[in-house]
Amino acid sequence: MPERPDLDYQVPLLAGELVGLGLVGATVRKPVVLRCLADEVRGVVQGVRRRAHAVDFDLGAKHLVVLPMLAGRFEVTPPTQRVSADTAVIFALSDGRQLRYRDDVQMGSVWLTAANAPIPGLAEGGDDVLGPGFTLERLRALLKGRREQVKVFVMDRATLDSFGNAYADEALFAAGLHPKRAVSRLRPEEVAALHGALVQTLLRAREVIAQRQPALPEKVRDFLHVRGRKDQPCPRCGGTIRVAGIHGHDAFFCPSCQPDVEGKGMVDWRKPGGAQ
Ligand SMILES: [Zn+2]
Repeated sequence: MPERPDLDYQVPLLAGELVGLGLVGATVRKPVVLRCLADEVRGVVQGVRRRAHAVDFDLGAKHLVVLPMLAGRFEVTPPTQRVSADTAVIFALSDGRQLRYRDDVQMGSVWLTAANAPIPGLAEGGDDVLGPGFTLERLRALLKGRREQVKVFVMDRATLDSFGNAYADEALFAAGLHPKRAVSRLRPEEVAALHGALVQTLLRAREVIAQRQPALPEKVRDFLHVRGRKDQPCPRCGGTIRVAGIHGHDAFFCPSCQPDVEGKGMVDWRKPGGAQ
């Protein structure tokens, strides 16, 4: 659920609330998410940063890394606030408040490790899509030799930092690319459209979320064009938004704005027998 634009908004908020405070204890309500001993989660928060799709709390000697996966969310609250049923771990803060990690599907995980230690399930090392180095030439170089479907490519966090399901769908809609298109068959103008869409989708999302200022545990997704809009009209052409399964993920797209020009319904003159 939290994707890069969400974390780009939440991480500075968490840093503003937590830096300088001590984590003085942890109460575990859903043990599956905590991959360390609760007693060991202690230390003064010296920094909070996004690490790919995880949040890294620098406690000095150790780092507390939370990988929110599908449904994880944070809350900084007085202890008197009702504890919601999805609360997995409550960290006590030295000012009396609590940092709560909520996760109603318990797919996320919380780790206490050395700085930059590898975290299972945390893919990182991808190019910063919003950094100055992510040029069209760089995207072309990243695509070289790759053969997967474009949605799979966009969501590969070891390549791009970083897109989850929602913003991958939005970027492909903006680029006019069907999610199942093979990256090896994208035309140069389509690669250019993809580059612009990747950058603009993250920038726009960041801007909208910053304007809306949701509370920490909330996410803003109602401005998305295709994600979560199955059977609704496409905002661009009025056609119907469809969903396709791709490697265990679902992809929302508009079949008219994002035609599957390499799809089974088309005669592919490059394959032997394609015209049968
Ligand atoms: Zn459309």
